[in-house]
Amino acid sequence: MTSPVVELADERAARRGLRLFLKRDDLIHPELPGNKWRKLRHNIEPARRQGTLLTFGGAYSNHIRAAAAAGKIFGFATIGVIRGEEHRPLNDSLAFAERMGMRLTYLDRAAYRRKHEPDVRAALRERFGDFYLLPEGGSNALAVKGCAELGAEVPGFDVVCCPCGTGGTLAGLAAGLAPHQRALGFSVLKGDFMEGEVERLQRAAYGGRRGTWRVEGGFHFGGYAKRTPELDAFIDDFAGRHGIVLDGIYTAKMMFGVLALAGHGAFPEGTRILAVITG
Ligand SMILES: *Cc1c(COP(=O)(O)O)cnc(C)c1O
Repeated sequence: MTSPVVELADERAARRGLRLFLKRDDLIHPELPGNKWRKLRHNIEPARRQGTLLTFGGAYSNHIRAAAAAGKIFGFATIGVIRGEEHRPLNDSLAFAERMGMRLTYLDRAAYRRKHEPDVRAALRERFGDFYLLPEGGSNALAVKGCAELGAEVPGFDVVCCPCGTGGTLAGLAAGLAPHQRALGFSVLKGDFMEGEVERLQRAAYGGRRGTWRVEGGFHFGGYAKRTPELDAFIDDFAGRHGIVLDGIYTAKMMFGVLALAGHGAFPEGTRILAVITG
């Protein structure tokens, strides 16, 4: 299924002669929304063949939720390895995952950081048996290919924007665009490693860099899941203008960045900009 594109009438873009559109990937599926579905999609068959999927995430991870729902819908067992200690009662995300049948286990922060090292992985295999491993955030080569399908769904736009957490969505989106289009990712994390991550994921999926893309690093608002009064005010204002509630971790930071860049004259007049509402 393809998600709808809607034009956003926003004077901050119109004043600069820009046209701004939203790709509503958040409407793809109630339990597997947005980029999480795109990233899981091609991983479902191998997970089903193996029987058990094991993956990693923080206690509020959308990926953990979506992986748990996918296991329930498509019929494979799921194990979620969560960063940090167990807290009961479970928060909404983890309670949902458990309801979907996911088995939850926890790694302290030090072990979690080393989660892809052989000894940590061996300990997980010892405990849970064989599994199909999906990295944190669900970003692997198959996930990148799923996100390339997003790129192919959006001809007719000059610049296509998305938020970046692990960079998998941008890696695929950029690879799926036509040669005259470019992708612009907004990192929601502090630090300048995102570009390297996107490159690494494109290398894993395609053997090298693909498409025309760039990571914008100036709109993380202090780091992952960090918020400021300015960001909160932006979310409220945006909801008032457009009736769309942006999430504070990803899409609000992207939209803030898109409108800020538009306001600074970063896009030539006439540019058609599409912002992907990833979840
Ligand atoms: C997970 C998530 C992202 C991050 O995507 P990456 O592929 O990890 O960069 C962006 N937006 C939303 C809404 C998400 O849930």
